[in-house]
Amino acid sequence: MRVFEKRRRDPLTYLLNGARHREKVRGRSVNMATGDIYCIDVQGEYFCAYCLQKCVTGTQNKPEHNSISLDRIDPARHYVPGNVALACFECNRRKSWLSAEQLKQFSLVIADVAQAAAS
Ligand SMILES: [Zn+2]
Repeated sequence: MRVFEKRRRDPLTYLLNGARHREKVRGRSVNMATGDIYCIDVQGEYFCAYCLQKCVTGTQNKPEHNSISLDRIDPARHYVPGNVALACFECNRRKSWLSAEQLKQFSLVIADVAQAAAS
């Protein structure tokens, strides 16, 4: 079975296996199941936990802006139950290594600069 077919058929397992592989390289293990992922799943469709857009699964090439991904809510913590959310690729990329509080502060600074530049 090709990779994009696996991703489309069981995207949460595919994503969690990817996390397991990345963590194994770092000498760590992932002790959680797909049911531990904070996930907005409506009748087999997945939605980003942050922006609520519908996510796509099983893209063949590079990720789309709305491809599903696993986000560590608090990046200082590992893939553990309560710290992993299903997010679109774009939200995950934007959030990057920021904690929720750092992201909030960063967003407020951007909003202030944009407002100052526009006036
Ligand atoms: Zn999103």
